[in-house]
Amino acid sequence: MGNVVAYAIPFFFLILGLEGIWARRRGLKIMSARATLANALTGLLERLILIFNFGFLFWAYSRLSQSIPWVWPSQSLWVWPAAFLVSDFLYYFLHRAHHRIGFLWAAHVVHHQSEEMNFSVGLRTAPLQALVFSAPFYLPAVLMGVPPLPFFVANGVMNSLQLLVHTRAASKDSRFWRGVGVVFNTPSHHRVHHGQESQYLDRNYGAFFIIWDKLFGSFQPESAEPTYGARHRLRTANPIRAVADEYIRMWMIAQAWASRLGWSRPLSAIRVWLSVWLMSPESLEARLAREPVQELASPDEHRAHRQASRHAGLEIPQPNWVLSLLALLPLATGFFLLYYLNPRPEGLVLIGIAVYLLLGLQAVGVALDASRKFYIWEWGRGAWLMSLALLVAQAPIGESDLNLVTGAAVISLWHVGLALYSQRMMWPSRGWRVQSVSAE
Ligand SMILES: [Zn+2]
Repeated sequence: MGNVVAYAIPFFFLILGLEGIWARRRGLKIMSARATLANALTGLLERLILIFNFGFLFWAYSRLSQSIPWVWPSQSLWVWPAAFLVSDFLYYFLHRAHHRIGFLWAAHVVHHQSEEMNFSVGLRTAPLQALVFSAPFYLPAVLMGVPPLPFFVANGVMNSLQLLVHTRAASKDSRFWRGVGVVFNTPSHHRVHHGQESQYLDRNYGAFFIIWDKLFGSFQPESAEPTYGARHRLRTANPIRAVADEYIRMWMIAQAWASRLGWSRPLSAIRVWLSVWLMSPESLEARLAREPVQELASPDEHRAHRQASRHAGLEIPQPNWVLSLLALLPLATGFFLLYYLNPRPEGLVLIGIAVYLLLGLQAVGVALDASRKFYIWEWGRGAWLMSLALLVAQAPIGESDLNLVTGAAVISLWHVGLALYSQRMMWPSRGWRVQSVSAE
């Protein structure tokens, strides 16, 4: 229905492939397998959240809309482009707020953590935005009288189109893109948005139209190609850790600063603690430079690392690709079944399946980070799936439930097999983890 992005995703993988071919022909190194997979996994986490709350958001919007006397007539054609315009306009403010307010930035930064720029970055959407932070910014659309279906479709189209500006393939010098870029957001404008140079920071928030940026003073054209990524560098391919990363960092900063004031001045300590979550990322970094927190690497240190290893991917040992892909297989299949075949399991079963997929995201993330803890998550998701199947099946297990239990047992064995295999592989003496090699 209104979930447009779901239909756009397969098309999206196609253009990601075409972009890869384009880059290879030009000899450009614009994507690494791990970062691309990390981006896609982050997108899956967001999709998992939306399986739950898309229906709720649509319901809440419709309920609120019913109490608005001036709702636009859904049958009129003009409503659809007008809904698109409203959605795009509100997105500008949503996006700007997510760059200027600490706790919102901590959610949005996930989208900016990629140090590469290719279509897969478009898939790297911020899961917490889908969960809670984006929805309130669209409240004015309800109040303006935009009906639910046109709004959700327009918003989905807007989000899908926005995936397309994440590429290095469209030159800033081409006459076509220069013309398009007068009114619309282009890959060049959006590359600026992902840059971390001072002149590029917090610029070009627009989704479809760039006119909002020109109107509200946040427009910046691309001069030199930006250095992509967030100033605080992410060192994991795991989507769950990526979501938590900036919150953990801000928590540590808030704790450190507040505890320096101590309980002799409790009000000031609380004020400082709260201000960390509200101040802009730049103010936070500026203050951090004045009042460093020992547990954190300094921004300079991050920058030095980055200079040394640009395009080298994340600073973690190379994953075992066979293991990572074998771990990905049941996750991708489960996702496909739930998302596209829409079997509509009941409440608790749906939650059980969601937890299974969440454990899968964690397991693949851990595999991509080449961590020894992989086996724990494989045992975990195998046990979880088997328990879930046994709980769902009626006792005593009749013929109708036999397929379910047998299927779950086969997949659980898959997980246990991977766990045992990885334990063997990662045994310190003969593991594939990077060993420190002594001179002698
Ligand atoms: Zn942004």
